[in-house]
Amino acid sequence: MDYKSIDYWQSLAHGLTLETRLFIAGEYQAAEHGASFASYNPATGEQLADISRAQAADVNKAVRSARDCFEAGDWSLASPAERKSVLLRFAELIEAHREELALLETLDTGKPIRHSLRDDIPGAARALRWYGEAIDKVYGEIAPTAHNALALISKEPVGVVAAIVPWNFPLLLTCWKLGPALAAGNSVILKPSEKSPLTAIRLGALANEAGLPKGALQILPGLGTEAGEALALHNDVDCLTFTGSTGVGKRLLEYAGQSNMKRVWLEAGGKSANIIFADCPDLVKAARASAAAIFYNQGQVCIAGTRLLVEESIKAPFLAELKKAAAAFKPRDPLDPDSIMGTLVDGEHHATVSRTIEVALAEGAELYLDGREQGSNFMGPVVLDKVEPQMKVAKEEIFGPVLAVFSFTDEAQALNLANDSEYGLGAGVWTRDLARAHRLARQLKAGSVFINNYNDGDMTVPFGGVKQSGNGRDKSLHAFDKFTELKTTWLALD
Ligand code: NAD
Repeated sequence: MDYKSIDYWQSLAHGLTLETRLFIAGEYQAAEHGASFASYNPATGEQLADISRAQAADVNKAVRSARDCFEAGDWSLASPAERKSVLLRFAELIEAHREELALLETLDTGKPIRHSLRDDIPGAARALRWYGEAIDKVYGEIAPTAHNALALISKEPVGVVAAIVPWNFPLLLTCWKLGPALAAGNSVILKPSEKSPLTAIRLGALANEAGLPKGALQILPGLGTEAGEALALHNDVDCLTFTGSTGVGKRLLEYAGQSNMKRVWLEAGGKSANIIFADCPDLVKAARASAAAIFYNQGQVCIAGTRLLVEESIKAPFLAELKKAAAAFKPRDPLDPDSIMGTLVDGEHHATVSRTIEVALAEGAELYLDGREQGSNFMGPVVLDKVEPQMKVAKEEIFGPVLAVFSFTDEAQALNLANDSEYGLGAGVWTRDLARAHRLARQLKAGSVFINNYNDGDMTVPFGGVKQSGNGRDKSLHAFDKFTELKTTWLALD
């Protein structure tokens, strides 16, 4: 892939005209009461745009538009083949605008342009395409009843779906939700994070161009405590699909209880363990993968391998290899195509991550690698050794490039350490011993277990967590379960 030059991206950035308004019923429009919020480039501190800020009145309007579209059947009753062709066009348009979307993502979040171009934008298109291709290949069921009855089990769209997403992979995670929700025939209201609204807003025009009927998709940039809360409390939203922190996820469950018991699907936080046994097949490969597991996207990855559990006998050589691998993650201007480490999403987050490191040091952890930088939102790899299970840094999600290192002497201790978390998103196991790999895969309390890799996968496999990492799954055909209701139709034949 041609990643172009920093000059190319800078000049493209100067020429950008940003859409900043809400998208409701197929049209861009300012917020009803004229409210707005600022969007900043975390790499430079410059204000990128003043974005329309959806509030309760706008949420009501968007829900009405989504409901009207759903009831009219323009999308919900379109044949699966028709929905498929629109979603395939939508995916093509995302690909056709790959550079512009990648640039918006990088300007808004500080992630390297190399990654936006290679991972985020193609991944978003792939998700829409995958569900578009799938939807006319999913059949209903006939139940094995007695001969005098015919019982059909069919799947129907839930209705109006609200999707609330975070800032770490804005367009990619959006499309993990839009793909199955739209393919199944629902009308969707998307609430992007206030820290990264630009690619989501741009989607509106592409949806129109793809031929998505008016009202099938609304986009409401706004604050969590305003637009997000109003959506979650709305009595005419049937389903809420969320990716974000566990704390906000818990609130959404309460809002559903206070309103109409809407279905709530949560992809929440993580504190995943990556376990390296002495018989790991390739120490160098494992060290490189372990570095990428925590430093990719500046550590702002829900399933990041944030806890490294290393067998005591190989700890010293393993950490030495890890340090070499971490050297590649040198923070640089995210618009530099050679950069593989950009900035944290904003100053507030930088301060929180910095404070967590200070607390860990005060609690007795030791700095093995110190990539901290002051005076900007950049932060290089930080490795904390001598971490103990009771420390804050061992328990809480940090969401930055900070690795906590533990050591163990046998399999049982490794398993106990790994499962000692209120989260359960991912886990890595590096070993040559096949039986041990399978034993641990069964016993680890996590939605995904990676053997001799960390976080490999594609659209064909479900993604999500157990315990307080959430419920339900994104990706794969299983994601349709979130956006459909089962209907039983029982016919008496006698
Ligand atoms: P966040 O919970 O602060 O915000 C997520 C979204 O929720 C944003 O759009 C925000 O505006 C909205 N929101 C905030 N308060 C709300 C409220 N009271 N009512 C309704 N909506 C509200 O999370 P974040 O900081 O944007 O993202 C980081 C978090 O996301 C981390 O905890 C990370 O682990 C998690 N995450 C999870 C996955 C996964 O698949 N499990 C993937 C990516 C990120």
